[in-house]
Amino acid sequence: MPRLTMLVVLAGLLGVGAPVYGQVVRTADATVRGLTASDFPRIKKLAENVYAYEDLNGSIDSNLAFTTNSLIVVTSDGVLVADGQGSVAKTKRLVDEVGKITTQPIRYVVICADHGDHIAGNSAFPSNVTFIAHPTSKALIERQAAAAAGRGGRGGAAGPGVPIPQETVSDKRVLMMGGTEMQILFLGRAHTGGDLHVYLPKEGILFMGEVFFNRLYPSVGGSRSGRPIEWIETITKAEAMKARIYVPDHGFVDSPEVLNEELVNFRGALENLVSEARRMHAAKVPLENAPRNINLGEFQYWYRAANNMPDAVRQVYLEIEGKLP
Ligand SMILES: [Zn+2]
Repeated sequence: MPRLTMLVVLAGLLGVGAPVYGQVVRTADATVRGLTASDFPRIKKLAENVYAYEDLNGSIDSNLAFTTNSLIVVTSDGVLVADGQGSVAKTKRLVDEVGKITTQPIRYVVICADHGDHIAGNSAFPSNVTFIAHPTSKALIERQAAAAAGRGGRGGAAGPGVPIPQETVSDKRVLMMGGTEMQILFLGRAHTGGDLHVYLPKEGILFMGEVFFNRLYPSVGGSRSGRPIEWIETITKAEAMKARIYVPDHGFVDSPEVLNEELVNFRGALENLVSEARRMHAAKVPLENAPRNINLGEFQYWYRAANNMPDAVRQVYLEIEGKLP
């Protein structure tokens, strides 16, 4: 056996946590992958004229940082971006990086996830872009804008200055730009309630917004908008599409093969969460005691599991009881 191959096999057997030749470490933790803050943002080409953009959300020293991803589709009739970044500075950087790839202007921004880490920087997009969101997300952004303007409504995490989406998609919209077909799809509620996907049928690429995190424990969001039970159904619909590449909103944009496997694993994390929370609920375990009695199995080792699981359990309890809005 060649020495390099042997090293790879050995490292694999030993479960070594550092990057290994030709092998990807399955984690959303950038430090375990041997990356530093200066490695971000990164652009990965997925197909001709289609790119994934990964930037780091949070300080890499915090043990909490993970990537937040955007999709960039370049056509001869302008650019579509799916999901921005979490601050005006970060989204300005995204816009600048798009400008290095193409002279085509950004025409559309699809809000697949309406949480602040994907929309708070939206004012950095050119002022003439068209924002597209699910009606639920549009309503949320309007409420947040109203609150920011001091006219009542709920406070929002995204902060002031987030443009109101001009167009909505509640089910499906086919967008043709310069001969490139893009489908904007709502497959069901998951993390935000207004979760949209962008699908490129010719390239077989499905950008999943916050329906898919790669090796990052399911989070129901700071505003507790997630619905773990429905989320499983939504992922199942996405899997049935048999896309070539499933692109996550958080976690690394790995090879198509790894992403395919990790989408199944992510559904597994949700199924474990839901079945364990159902078990606790059926045994009438009070919510405050449920998280410490849940058996996460292999998923306990996932990045941010300890942070994200208690709220996720609470959300399953509410979903079972029909108490979610
Ligand atoms: Zn997010």
